Amino acid sequence: MEKEPAAGQVSMEDIAALAKRRGFIFQSSEIYGGIGGFYDYGPLGAILKRNVKDAWWRDMVELRDDVVPFDSSIVMHPKTWEASGHVEAFNDRLVDCKVCKHRFRADHLKSREQCPDCGSKNSFTEERAFNLMLRTFVGPMEDSAAMAYLRPETAQGMFVNFKNIYQSARKRPPFGVAQIGKAFRNEITPGNFTYRLREFEQAELEYFVPDDGQDLKRFEEWVQLRKSWYSKYGVKPERLRFAELTADERPHYAKAGIDVEYLFPWGWGELESIAHRGTYDLDAHMRLSGKDLRFYDEASKTHYTPLLIESSAGMDRTTLVMLVDAYERETASDPAGKQTERIVLHFHPQIAPVQAAVFSLARNKPELVELARSIEEGLRPKFRTQYDEGNIGQLYRRQDEIGTPLCLTVDYDSLTGHDVTVRERDSMRQERVAIGAVESYLGERLAGP
Ligand code: ATP
Repeated sequence: MEKEPAAGQVSMEDIAALAKRRGFIFQSSEIYGGIGGFYDYGPLGAILKRNVKDAWWRDMVELRDDVVPFDSSIVMHPKTWEASGHVEAFNDRLVDCKVCKHRFRADHLKSREQCPDCGSKNSFTEERAFNLMLRTFVGPMEDSAAMAYLRPETAQGMFVNFKNIYQSARKRPPFGVAQIGKAFRNEITPGNFTYRLREFEQAELEYFVPDDGQDLKRFEEWVQLRKSWYSKYGVKPERLRFAELTADERPHYAKAGIDVEYLFPWGWGELESIAHRGTYDLDAHMRLSGKDLRFYDEASKTHYTPLLIESSAGMDRTTLVMLVDAYERETASDPAGKQTERIVLHFHPQIAPVQAAVFSLARNKPELVELARSIEEGLRPKFRTQYDEGNIGQLYRRQDEIGTPLCLTVDYDSLTGHDVTVRERDSMRQERVAIGAVESYLGERLAGP
């Protein structure tokens, strides 16, 4: 990862400060000093992350007839992780500085001569392998027979169930299985806010295809599909790249691999990986379990192991991308024409936690409050709305900072004219809209592409 912050981009400190101030993301267990690699999503962050997951789920699962949903348990039989290779090889190499005791991932160190933290020379311990899986015990005995792992990825649950899934869902390759769920990795150096966590969520899609010579074409189609997904939700194309992995960079069994990367304030970082994994995963589970997981093709009366194209995206990283990508600090005119600076999040309407805010211009005027509240209540079943009241400049500032696309204001003229002022977040343009037409006005502007 490059260390230099990208020119003109927001710093991670700005994002973390906004995230805390507005209730997107908090450090986990903050009152006890926090715990490294764990974060909580606040009232707005919980909706933001849900919207990101829902967008993925809707496009990757619900709108397709060749993908079925799945939800597997976090703790699985420990043999799962033997078969998958995680027990043997899911390791990072780590070294410690003997002077300052700081721990580093060996592959993150530019040089072994001098500790980047305390400057000591030749102070590193020998490299050791460190397994990233978090362990727990199942049942009352804390012995090795009871040891289990918290899954480091969601994918294995779909592989071990492959036969159950295709038989019960009556699917034949090409078809996919998808799930969104928690994964855990005991990262040596969690950091960059919610980029590298020890507890995180993945959205994984396992697409099984027949070995009919079309697999590389299908892999490319998935890459294009994921590209259009990011573009649909407005992620800036110049901050996104699809880096092709060379044969040396990908595992020996993989026929093709792409890392989807985003230009974070500290440089490019992985957001998703798309890989052609061949028959590696099903083969591994068949070998260790002794069970036949091959697909049985009724037409040709033959068994075969389908090839796998996997898309594995981090939902916390995607949520962080939505925040970073949407963030802008700009100079604007306030309602009195004075130049002020505003922070605005240009969220896509489907991603924005609040889609429309409804204000009463005055707190102490019951007619205005009542009208504004009733408009907000009427819109609530259709859109994500919020009611607020008070100083209009402050109200706009707050909604801009949380990325609300539209603000509706009830003022004195609304009582006689039966209309409201609608202000658009990005252009700050305002127009009067009849109260009776507000719902369709919002529908046109907030519906997805
Ligand atoms: P990295 O190289 O950043 O450690 P990885 O290559 O090990 O990631 P994968 O195993 O391919 O990651 O996992 C798929 C996706 O899961 C990643 O692209 C990322 O979005 C997410 N992910 C993996 N590890 C973490 C983590 N520690 N915190 C947050 N998200 C993660």
